[in-house]
Amino acid sequence: MYDCIIVHYSEIGIKGKNRVMFENRLKRNLSMALGNRARVYKRYGRLVCDLLTKEEKEIEEIISLLKITPGVANFGLAKKARLEFENIRQVVFSLLKNRKFDSFKVLTKRSYKEFPMTSLEINKALGEEIAAKFGKRIDLKNPELTIHVEICEKESFVYLDKFKGVGGLPVGCSGKVVCLLSGGIDSPTAAFLMVKRGCPVVLIHFFNKTINTRQALKKVEDIAKVLAKAQIKSKLYLIPFYKLQTEIIKVVPAKYRMVIYRRLMMEIANRIARKEEAKAIVTGDSIGQVASQTLENLQCIYAVAEYPVFAPLIGMNKEEIVELAKTIGTYEISIRPYQDCCSFMIAEHPATKMSLNLAEEIERNIKDKSTLIDDAIKESKILILKWT
Ligand code: ATP
Ligand code: MG
Repeated sequence: MYDCIIVHYSEIGIKGKNRVMFENRLKRNLSMALGNRARVYKRYGRLVCDLLTKEEKEIEEIISLLKITPGVANFGLAKKARLEFENIRQVVFSLLKNRKFDSFKVLTKRSYKEFPMTSLEINKALGEEIAAKFGKRIDLKNPELTIHVEICEKESFVYLDKFKGVGGLPVGCSGKVVCLLSGGIDSPTAAFLMVKRGCPVVLIHFFNKTINTRQALKKVEDIAKVLAKAQIKSKLYLIPFYKLQTEIIKVVPAKYRMVIYRRLMMEIANRIARKEEAKAIVTGDSIGQVASQTLENLQCIYAVAEYPVFAPLIGMNKEEIVELAKTIGTYEISIRPYQDCCSFMIAEHPATKMSLNLAEEIERNIKDKSTLIDDAIKESKILILKWT
């Protein structure tokens, strides 16, 4: 029934050369993400994706991908018509055939000004005929169905279903970052917010091989795959944390362990950021959510970083984060039961206000810390994940 998807991007704030760069980047990203499922090209301030698949399931997948593709403001599942009113009319009626609706309006955008009818004339002609033929009510303010007609220089497009995108900047418009990714709800959401601002996000996950079963790693890989929908592919570092943790448990009192774990994660993140030529380190912290996320403890943890640390969820409430995770599609994976690498050997009441001096002092007792860090990096595994 449909033959293409018409994609609109938000143009606010992008002008001149930047705008061309933005368009080209989005076009390239979509071509890479959709592969042989669609052919992507530019048309008068829009992108068109000609569908090369008729499989309903594949089209649904494409829709779910576009909903979280950075740079996409909105899009419609469309059918093309020739540049003649009669053909546009036929396409509109063919799309309306099995549609149930009471009220409607026709909304035409005429980008190609040589077309002999104005937008208003098209709206009126189609609207009156649809109202008469189907006995439906025209409602310009709050219609149940909006029939979109877009007239470009080579063809026109008709669509009924318009979907909202996430906006933002196409991936690659901003610098690379690394993100500390757990299997929880928060960090995947934080990673996504950076992707949304155009940053390719390299993911770093610490696992404990004695408690993280294959299932736990599968969970993180599945999260990375969902993020790959938004950023084409995800690079995931899997870092064994067991030896470092064992040393920490020997010398660090239980109530301070979480902060020390996280300081060592940060140290390893520095090394990976350097190797990846990333410009920042991202975490899923939100103030006060757990004991390690008081301002005092975050100061202890972030002090280790050699790069700016961004925590895009810092001021968000849990419900807001959950809402966003559901939109992205990571929520359902994040709530699968699993044991975090750090949930064992942690005090029931961890310290909420650790001082930097104390953290540094305790850390000096960890034997062979730098060798252990070297080993963890050496023993790490890198995966490249795509969305399908
Ligand atoms: P999340 O839902 O992201 O797991 P959380 O509320 O459970 O967060 P913590 O477990 O204290 O909070 O983790 C805070 C942040 O530390 C995470 O958002 C993530 O950036 C990082 N982090 C925690 N555990 C890991 C891990 N195993 N691997 C990589 N990063 C981690
Ligand atoms: Mg967690």
